[in-house]
Amino acid sequence: MQLKQGIKVSPGVAICQALVIDAEDQPIPKRTVARSRQSAELERLDAALKASGQDIEDLRKHATTKVGPELAKIFDVHLVMLKDKHLVAQFREAISTDSVTAEYAVYSVMRRQQAVFSQMDKGFFRERANDLWDIEKRIIGHLIGDERAHLTGLKQDVILVAHDLTPSQTASLDKSRIKGIATNAGGQTSHTAILAHAQGIPAIVGLENITSLVSSGDTIIIDGHKGMVIISPDAAQLMEYRQQAERFALLETQFDELAHLPAVTRDGKAITLLANIEFPDEVPPAVAKGAMGIGLYRTEFLFLSADEEPDEEQQYAAYKRVIDLLKGKPLTIRTLDLGADKVAHIDGLATNERNPFLGCRSIRLCLQNLPLFKTQLRAILRASVHGQVRIMFPLISNVMELRQARMILNDVMEDMTDQGHEFNHHIPVGIMVEVPSAALQAKTLAREVDFFSIGTNDLIQYTVAVDRGNERIANLYSGAHPAVVQLIKDVARAGVRGGIEVSLCGEMAGEPQFVPLLIGLGLKKLSMTPPALPEVKKVIRSVTMDQCQKIARKVSGMESDREVLNYLRDEMRKVLPEAMEVRGSTR
Ligand code: PEP
Ligand code: MG
Repeated sequence: MQLKQGIKVSPGVAICQALVIDAEDQPIPKRTVARSRQSAELERLDAALKASGQDIEDLRKHATTKVGPELAKIFDVHLVMLKDKHLVAQFREAISTDSVTAEYAVYSVMRRQQAVFSQMDKGFFRERANDLWDIEKRIIGHLIGDERAHLTGLKQDVILVAHDLTPSQTASLDKSRIKGIATNAGGQTSHTAILAHAQGIPAIVGLENITSLVSSGDTIIIDGHKGMVIISPDAAQLMEYRQQAERFALLETQFDELAHLPAVTRDGKAITLLANIEFPDEVPPAVAKGAMGIGLYRTEFLFLSADEEPDEEQQYAAYKRVIDLLKGKPLTIRTLDLGADKVAHIDGLATNERNPFLGCRSIRLCLQNLPLFKTQLRAILRASVHGQVRIMFPLISNVMELRQARMILNDVMEDMTDQGHEFNHHIPVGIMVEVPSAALQAKTLAREVDFFSIGTNDLIQYTVAVDRGNERIANLYSGAHPAVVQLIKDVARAGVRGGIEVSLCGEMAGEPQFVPLLIGLGLKKLSMTPPALPEVKKVIRSVTMDQCQKIARKVSGMESDREVLNYLRDEMRKVLPEAMEVRGSTR
């Protein structure tokens, strides 16, 4: 049994076998097996060698027809190497003599051999080192399963263990089989984390070396409340966690019963609860959880899951589908927020920058790719006739940027009018306030838009200068930082004074302990990942406006994020004692 602490990003408990993927460039750790398991390891080795031989045969046949027999000869070389008696004998010996796993036997022998070849002067031998690397990956792939293909058509439930997952990989996971996620990399609000949460999959990121501690087939527990992975748990832990999973499920059912009750404080103040979505199909489950509309539709995911740029018709169809599924409830469509960790593999859009989070992302990318931007605006405007639609520009960092975006929107409206298209000429236009410069200039910006939505995920990273996806500095990334609280307070106040609506759509909105503080700071609209809605509603229905304002006043006088967080957790223990207990003391 071994415990490994990481960063909790999606609550819940999962208990099942691990599937390790993406082991490509990771060193294989030296792990020994009991003598009684040696013959099983030798069998695993034989099976992997056979499967690798079959792969190479298939590749050779394919290559012969595609590129001709001459170039396909490379695979003859691979086959000869794979069947080399001397090499295979070394693998077997490592297992029999040193009692190591089959993957470590292959890894260590191949690395030794590659080192010898790489040091030889002749190019021919150096080439062979590359061939060995290729064969090693193939055999190890069969032993520990590094292939993405394994993720489709899974036959049993698994917990996915990976170095990292891209947002598009996470979005396409088979939720019926993938019961949990554990990754080496990532931070609390990386988009991978957000997607896992949205899909209700318990997840822990920032585990640093979980791929070296776990092999495919090991039983592991994901404790998504404490951010802990338990590797090879004993019987007592299995029992404890099965009970915890049951308690959590029961609690969730109790919260879900509130789904159709109003979100009002005990003294009758209404709060609007909305959902954040990435795909149209998320609308019905969000509404079932009590969403009164969609406060943030991350449209870039349409691009992230496509091989080619979606055209106007495809975008229009997606937006219209969201509107139809909402049946009259409001929808805020955010224009493309591509770049940084959301990279689309589409010609002309992928950028290679030194500092992608400070680079040509989001609205900046749109303003530099006008056909792309205009196509999306046309699709949104066409969809606007079907429901209550608003447009929101992300990452606005100065007034000129906003004016430029609005000017382009006007151009598109003029063209569409000339072409006889129908659309809502008075469509509300707002911005995400997610850069400190925008928050500090909120009073000015409020004069030029219909609404603000505070994006704390980015606002935190830019205020405290901490990459939201970097596990090494995740302890510094905190919405409880007094500077962040101050900015939220200032933006909320600027909205009230400017007579415009201010909502908040960062992950903070869905974290129960922050909810009374946010309401106390003046926010009346919160948009969050759908699974968080029922519990947030429970919090709202348990507090009074007075209580929230008192909390906000108290927090405003605090000096460190620790102090703020401890205080908010203590307050939450009074409001939701049972939920805090099920989750353990860390939340
Ligand atoms: C944010 O930055 O807070 C936000 C909601 O947008 P995203 O997470 O997509 O960057
Ligand atoms: Mg953002």
